[in-house]
Amino acid sequence: MEKGIPASKGYAIGTAFVVGVDELPVNEEKAASVEVEQGRLRMAIENTGKQLHALGEKTRQEMGEEPAAIIDVQIQMLDDPEFTGKAAARIEMDRISAAKAIHDVMNQYIEILSGLEDEYLRERVADVKDVGTRLLRNLAGKTGNLFAGLPDNAVVVARDFTPSDTAQMDKIKVIAFMTDIGGPTSHSAIMARTLEIPAVVGLKNISAIVKTGDIVIVDGIEGNVLVNPDETTLALYQSKRNQFETEKAKLKDLAHTQTITKAGKQIIVAANIGKPADVDKAIENGAEGIGLFRSEFLYMDRPNMPSENEQFEGYKQVAEKMAGKPVVIRTLDIGGDKKLSYLPLADEMNPFLGLRAIRLCLNQKDLFKTQLRALLRASIYGDIQIMFPMIGSLAEFLDAKEVTRECMVELKKEKQPFNEKIQIGMMIEIPSAAIIAETLAKEADFFSIGTNDLIQYTLAVDRMNPNVSYLYNPMHPAILKLIKMTIDAAHKEGKWCGMCGEMAGDAKAIPTLLEYGLDEFSMNAGSILEARKIIMNS
Ligand code: PEP
Ligand code: MG
Repeated sequence: MEKGIPASKGYAIGTAFVVGVDELPVNEEKAASVEVEQGRLRMAIENTGKQLHALGEKTRQEMGEEPAAIIDVQIQMLDDPEFTGKAAARIEMDRISAAKAIHDVMNQYIEILSGLEDEYLRERVADVKDVGTRLLRNLAGKTGNLFAGLPDNAVVVARDFTPSDTAQMDKIKVIAFMTDIGGPTSHSAIMARTLEIPAVVGLKNISAIVKTGDIVIVDGIEGNVLVNPDETTLALYQSKRNQFETEKAKLKDLAHTQTITKAGKQIIVAANIGKPADVDKAIENGAEGIGLFRSEFLYMDRPNMPSENEQFEGYKQVAEKMAGKPVVIRTLDIGGDKKLSYLPLADEMNPFLGLRAIRLCLNQKDLFKTQLRALLRASIYGDIQIMFPMIGSLAEFLDAKEVTRECMVELKKEKQPFNEKIQIGMMIEIPSAAIIAETLAKEADFFSIGTNDLIQYTLAVDRMNPNVSYLYNPMHPAILKLIKMTIDAAHKEGKWCGMCGEMAGDAKAIPTLLEYGLDEFSMNAGSILEARKIIMNS
């Protein structure tokens, strides 16, 4: 049994599908025919060349000359006598398969380059790896989507998933995730909870242990993974899964009730969403609002920046579907672990402490204004509220509000309607913001506590790093103190305070948060009903 970190509840029994280099078969046996292998190598080189040319062209158009030049270097490698030339020679000499030849030559090349003094040459390691992997993928016939050939009832296994990976996979076939790295608040974990499928993360080297086709059990409650289990174990987990599903179905009765505590306080239980399409699930689970729309997902998995109109349509759709219920839309939170292919950002030593979220938006005002204009224009279709992420000081919040005001002036001039009384709030996810919450509460219409980041910044614990996940403790007295300070500060100014970090949906934390007076709990749709049950019994 492999032990990891439980990241999304439930049990799944399915077929493993390993994503990554490990899935590429390298036949160790002697080749039956040298000619056939040479032909396969030539074909793989040709196909790789075509793909790289297309990629280079796209990159040149979208990102300019500098990044496209990197791909030019990769194209040249396809003719490099030290690389593909050597691979062809090895097929001839050692009678090995084309894949084995590429695999070996690539690793030798990487070893040599890694040991060199010259920095430029050392940096070529990444290119050799990239080209080599592409060649191996072509040899294995895996040219398209990483998830091509995904079986039904697939348990997808990877080192980690980027948001664009998860966007690519066929969600109907995927019944669970497991990853080597990541913690409960890494994006693959959040994605699994959004999809309401079980997930175990931080399994260290599960992507090497499990092979595509293995039967696996994913226990998203205890954080266990069992590979090729015996009949008795299978039966045990089938029964656990059925019981879990039955209880989940029972909770559905709470989908249409209000959330009122025993003491009679009405609480808003809202949903976190990433895309307009997620609203359906939120409504199905009885969300009383959208407490966090991670708008950056509108910017991801596409070749270019979404236009003002495209964004407007997305925000309008959510507002209309929520029919007057509050919809808190967070402005672009890019940087940190979230990147946009068409927006090259400088490499940073500590991206989570770098030019991220509101810092980036204030630095790239045009980009920010496009979003704000779209949000304001959509605000007449429902109760849209604007929320700024990563606010660390009063000046930053005032600057962001000032840009919003500039957009309002522009829209007025253009005679475009918007809600002039739109609520503008902020996330409290940097300790400095929690500490000066009393000052911020005078300017903000509301707060939403982003515990995912607040915990990592307060406790100096990387939210993605499984080696320190034991220190990632939402109930740490320092965290509880900051939360209490934030709620009290909001209430003192007559403002509401919500929470949209994962802690809001944590059954163990909810009673304490209620005691502190938290007004709104926003979480992935799949946790809403259980949270409502706990709140109604508190
Ligand atoms: C948070 O930090 O708690 C939060 C909700 O934002 P994200 O997880 O998108 O960083
Ligand atoms: Mg955050």
